[in-house]
Amino acid sequence: MNEPLRKAAPKISFVSLGCPKALVDSERIITRLRAEGYELAKTHAGADAVIVNTCGFLDSAKAESLAAIGAALDANGKVIVTGCMGAQPGTIRAAFPEVLSITGPQAYESTMAAVHEAVPAPHDPFVDLVPEQGIKLTPRHYAYLKISEGCNNRCSFCIIPQLRGRLVSRPAAEVLREAEKLVAAGVKEILVISQDTGAYGRDLSYAESAFGDRHVRAKFIDLMRELGSLGIWVRLHYVYPYPHIDEVLPLMAEGKILPYLDVPFQHASPDVLRAMRRPGDQEKTLARIATWRKLCPDLTLRSTFIVGFPGESEEDFQFLLDWLDEARLDRVGAFRYEPVAGAPANDLGLEPVPQEVRDARYDRFMRHQQAISTRLLKNKIGRHFQVIIDRAGPLEGRTKGDAPEIDGKVHVASRRPLRPGEIVSVKIERADSYDLFGTAA
Ligand code: SF4
Repeated sequence: MNEPLRKAAPKISFVSLGCPKALVDSERIITRLRAEGYELAKTHAGADAVIVNTCGFLDSAKAESLAAIGAALDANGKVIVTGCMGAQPGTIRAAFPEVLSITGPQAYESTMAAVHEAVPAPHDPFVDLVPEQGIKLTPRHYAYLKISEGCNNRCSFCIIPQLRGRLVSRPAAEVLREAEKLVAAGVKEILVISQDTGAYGRDLSYAESAFGDRHVRAKFIDLMRELGSLGIWVRLHYVYPYPHIDEVLPLMAEGKILPYLDVPFQHASPDVLRAMRRPGDQEKTLARIATWRKLCPDLTLRSTFIVGFPGESEEDFQFLLDWLDEARLDRVGAFRYEPVAGAPANDLGLEPVPQEVRDARYDRFMRHQQAISTRLLKNKIGRHFQVIIDRAGPLEGRTKGDAPEIDGKVHVASRRPLRPGEIVSVKIERADSYDLFGTAA
């Protein structure tokens, strides 16, 4: 290779905001950029253009997206906007008329077209070197695997179905081929994501696709069985509480799928759930949780809740706190309700909960759940757990019950050096409200 004759590759700076689903979109765009010979810049100032992948879910996320666009314009001037907030181009154009292009989520082709226009592709075969599994933004030992896009539910607080459309599942063979490539590239943990993981394949009428010497149905349980045979950790996120989710619990008990379920329950009060257009029978949900725990006693349950939804009374809120006592969820996140422009919840005619009441309920909720989580974590002291190492120094990892970014960590002491991605047995010696502390065997 005649290095001095090669032109410097054009550089793109990339900002990725929002949820893991948006992160997967970012990975796809970055993979395309690298495949075409673009390099990633460390700073906006050192780049030929900036791509901002925005989040448009809550007003606070929109404000963060607008701030990121403003900062990119100040530092660079050539800014391409994509992602969920791109589905509302008027708001972005009103604030920043000079952005080069605005596209919505998953608009990879349009984003790349905007890049080509702003910074022509280098057409250099020597830089056309992309790992087969694509470029991951997560550390090499874990990766997000998106199995579908969009959602057919109509939760009244949510505009994701408007932004991302109805459910579109990927054929099972396509998902499994991506999973195999990830494993071949050294990934030790796959995090299955979508807007609604349990609904996988409904839009395809569960059609089969050819994978190796067999045909695999695009059905939640069939896909989980296949993923569970890969010999790595498989973690499920965003599981809407459908009855057929029960089928995956035996796979968790057998150690094929991680004993971890991320089920966004959102509330417990039947009236609030009805207004949210979510499944509303919380007695049944508690019975389901009990069944799940019977089928898989080591199950970790994570959930998210919204406090201060319009019409939420003090009784509704107290019902939620009492329900939390019974449900004994391991990991819980909460949001104060924020009206999202375009969400049906704005037109329900329900009394908004004053901001100071929302704040106070959020604090009470967090304190209440913290006491429950702390008790559950303390029960782990003295036991041994498998821990996947995320960071070498200081040594940090996670048990099967902790997802990266959102759950707690295990702070590990070890006599021998441990590498990220290594899975070791750790004896837990101490716990605080979120994290565990222990020594590797
Ligand atoms: S399940 Fe509800 S909250 Fe989740 S993406 Fe679908 S509509 Fe939105």
